[in-house]
Amino acid sequence: MSSQLKVRGTIVSVHFFRRLLLASLLWVLSSPLAAQEVFEPLLDVDPPSVVCGTPRVFDQQFGILPVNPVQDGQGLDFLQEPRVLHADYTGKITVRNLRIVGDYPTITFRRWTPVGEVNETWTRRSTQTIGGRLVSRFTRSWPAAALRKALRARTYGYDKPQIFWGVVETPVAEMDLYFRVTSKNIPVATVTKINNRVQYSSHVVNLSVGPFTNRRVTHGGSGFAFATAAKLFYQHFPDVYDGLSFVTQRDALSENYAAFHSLVKNAVSGIGLSLFNNTSTYGSAGRLQAIEFYRGAFALQNDVSNHEALHQWADFFDVAEMAGYDCGGHQCSSHMPLLFPRENYVGAVLEETRRVRRVGGDVYEIQRTPNPGIQHPLHKYAMGHANAGSVPNLVVFEDQEQFGDSSSSPDPGTELTGNSQIVAMSDILGTHGPRTGPVMARWRRALVVISPAGTLLSQKEMNYWNFYAKRMGENQNTTSYHGIPSFFRASGNKMRLRTDIDARNYPKITKGFQTVFRNYGRTDWRGVTFDAAVRSRYLVNANYTFSGRVTLTDQPYHVILIIAEMADGTQERFQGNIVGQRFSVTGKFLKRGNYRLRVFLFYPGSGSQYQSTGVSGVIVK
Ligand SMILES: [Zn+2]
Repeated sequence: MSSQLKVRGTIVSVHFFRRLLLASLLWVLSSPLAAQEVFEPLLDVDPPSVVCGTPRVFDQQFGILPVNPVQDGQGLDFLQEPRVLHADYTGKITVRNLRIVGDYPTITFRRWTPVGEVNETWTRRSTQTIGGRLVSRFTRSWPAAALRKALRARTYGYDKPQIFWGVVETPVAEMDLYFRVTSKNIPVATVTKINNRVQYSSHVVNLSVGPFTNRRVTHGGSGFAFATAAKLFYQHFPDVYDGLSFVTQRDALSENYAAFHSLVKNAVSGIGLSLFNNTSTYGSAGRLQAIEFYRGAFALQNDVSNHEALHQWADFFDVAEMAGYDCGGHQCSSHMPLLFPRENYVGAVLEETRRVRRVGGDVYEIQRTPNPGIQHPLHKYAMGHANAGSVPNLVVFEDQEQFGDSSSSPDPGTELTGNSQIVAMSDILGTHGPRTGPVMARWRRALVVISPAGTLLSQKEMNYWNFYAKRMGENQNTTSYHGIPSFFRASGNKMRLRTDIDARNYPKITKGFQTVFRNYGRTDWRGVTFDAAVRSRYLVNANYTFSGRVTLTDQPYHVILIIAEMADGTQERFQGNIVGQRFSVTGKFLKRGNYRLRVFLFYPGSGSQYQSTGVSGVIVK
């Protein structure tokens, strides 16, 4: 099975941070409980690629690329309703006032389902004018059955609190659209409302800034009103943050990025970057080093967050050019080229889940990055956490586009082709000089959610952002299904990501809550209600029982299969009969690691089935 998604990349090259591995085998399971019947779980489908916009923003910041008004046909944003979804939701789902710059009576939406895309034509509901430009607005609703379909091959979890919903298509752009989905078992946030434009909780700040997104119309797709928002932030919150990471209540649309890291200040020399300090632009007296923007819930995923944070220091070494080669892959001016050894978090060619292995002599192949992935020694050096002597000779490959013009996850075992050159640390020192400047033991980030004029986040939205923002700051036990650990662990335990919020004139909210090893809710898997909360942490070789009730009544379901699965294909299966809608299955996990739990339901003659829901963020110790 291959992706139904149309390949993107007409305007910028595509960067795959993440690509679910498709195990190529479909295994067949003969049930001892229902002889002659065969139960086959169907595999899920690749989610779309995720694009990093940092190099473009960097080039605009330094005048290499012009900042032009947004082109007609590009998207601005939309409101998800309900604003936070749960897997058991049974109401209507709406995309409200999705805004496309330009005069478009209709647009196309390619809604993703397990069996292919459904093409929808959306008709314009209204228009508005921003900066003299017409903006077309669209609203679309679906019944709950659409959510059920989406969950049948999309995994969500504490490590990834969103699902891909489909692609907005205009004559000039294709833009991925995600919905926030979370476990029901997240805690209620304590919220302090300072005024009608400012509220905060222990790990998130919410500001109402009217022009924040509309500024993109005149200042380009990444031209949010960061300075306006930052100045409002500093009126109420102290200048103690290294980075302000912005997200928007109305989810941003863009085909150019899922996230970007914009350097405000650099005080480190020897990493291929000039020294500069633009902190006053944002109202900081010198502490602020970066502004980040994340679409959707990408700020809450280790892969995207680790990547963007690392852009403060990497990768500006231009190692491919030092080897005498053209760089390639995704925006290679600030991403690491294809080289050996080790994995890295800002690859132009390989995602962090892949690295190069030497088979012998000059023969190299792709291998899966061992869990957990750790930052590359050259990047640890750039951060000041390793000395020059610890950086190995780098074998740089001539054909930087042998896996295409974006970063990707080639199959393990794929052999590399073409010539290679060694670049030694002495070459890097000769080109860039020694690294000097501050060495940080922590990066302090404030997650700031921007609401439109006249509104602030609801309690439920505050719960969502606050919980996950705290989780991002945990040192350990947050490793994702794909083996991507916390920022701290990825840094080799050298640098913490601190996400708690201090306010200027109001007390810090210190009420604690558990984010790691937190149970999942009884109804977090659509179609079943478990008898008790479902653990997210298990012990290897211990027996566990999953029991509960099947709530779907559209078929006479008679067999349940729960598959616990790791990204490398390791599976444990728990199977049993459903009698009077009830089930109870027992089994054990035989390997430690990061899992997702997928529930499959079968009825007589049903044949192969997609999951009813898959939930990741499950750890076996
Ligand atoms: Zn990047």
